[in-house]
Amino acid sequence: MKSRRKFIEKVAISTAGLSLVGWNSPNYLMHLHNPASKEPKLKVALMGLGSYANRVAKAMQQCNKAIITGLISGTPEKLETWGEKYNVPKESRYNYENFDAIASNPNIDAVYIITPNALHHGQTIRVAKAGKHVICEKPMAISAQEGKEMVDACKKAGVKLLVGYRMHFEPNTLEVVNMRKQGDFGKIDFFQGLSGFNIGDPNQWRLDKALAGGGALVDIGIYSINGARYMVGEEPIWVTAQETKTNPEKFKEGVDETIQFQLGFPSGAVASCLSTYAMNNLDKFFLNGAKGFAQLHPATGYGPIKGSTHLKALTEDHTPQQTLQMDAMADILLKGTEPAIPVNGEEGLKDLKIIEAIYKAVDQSKKITLTL
Ligand code: NAD
Repeated sequence: MKSRRKFIEKVAISTAGLSLVGWNSPNYLMHLHNPASKEPKLKVALMGLGSYANRVAKAMQQCNKAIITGLISGTPEKLETWGEKYNVPKESRYNYENFDAIASNPNIDAVYIITPNALHHGQTIRVAKAGKHVICEKPMAISAQEGKEMVDACKKAGVKLLVGYRMHFEPNTLEVVNMRKQGDFGKIDFFQGLSGFNIGDPNQWRLDKALAGGGALVDIGIYSINGARYMVGEEPIWVTAQETKTNPEKFKEGVDETIQFQLGFPSGAVASCLSTYAMNNLDKFFLNGAKGFAQLHPATGYGPIKGSTHLKALTEDHTPQQTLQMDAMADILLKGTEPAIPVNGEEGLKDLKIIEAIYKAVDQSKKITLTL
């Protein structure tokens, strides 16, 4: 009985697989539409099949509006196994040498770049030249200059550039932003952001300046930078910053271990933040205003995000953040909708400018003025 059931299951699985094979087969084309609305889904190629791409791919299985239709990897075995797992036809699997050919693939609308930070710039420009939208992981690039070139290249090619800021679609975060906009906290005077974890393997690319572009600040501190902006609702006009390094062997020149930084906003509000690769349990936001407060703890992990305000507990349901992000990005790219908190290239570029100002403030031990 057991083996018969196994046999039936096997036949069912292989038939389902077979029925989708080939990018022009009617079944495959049907699979690219939302069965409920019949509208086309956002057809996404994932570039860089590492650990975060794995999380994105799994979460995308629950998307109604976005679907994985392409894969780009330097490892042929990954293209094979991921291709079978996610029903991506052979014609839509590429490597880093030949992916410019996506230009003639009608089943790819956008490429989601999930590679080490230093590669984002060149890859974004190639995808834009191929005429496809770009979703790029954070940090968008390793310098503001690169970021600007990416924004310009996408504009020139007439494609959109989005950054993988998943918190911009997280319901408890959005509730705090909504309450702030409604005036529930009164005039905002203070934000605290704590972002960090104890990083392991000293040989990983995140600790290699050439591939990472920095250290904890560009990788995890960016959540406090970006969070300060959407929680306070203003753009900073100055930064000050201080660095400490307890392990210069692991955190080499140009790879920051711990930085504390402060941001000043036009209204007079200030932010005080910590970015580190050398402490655990740091994922917390606190927003204070004249009439009340909000706290999120954890604030930027994969969820569930938890928190409260002076008025209520924050109890929005948890759905994988990448599912919400990709469905929302489908609407942005296919229908031109505007998210409550922007996720475009300009938004990513602002964070890069703040990162550079923080490094400059550390180097020069002085307050740096910012114009975003
Ligand atoms: P990872 O090391 O697990 O994966 C990176 C992938 O890129 C690997 O498959 C690797 O083979 C590939 N790659 C291609 N060219 C490479 C090269 N020259 N050197 C090294 N690897 C190369 O890393 P990850 O954790 O998946 O991070 C990838 C990107 O995603 C980074 O920009 C990171 O900041 C971002 N990220 C974002 C989140 C988020 O929550 N938004 C979480 C994790 C990572």
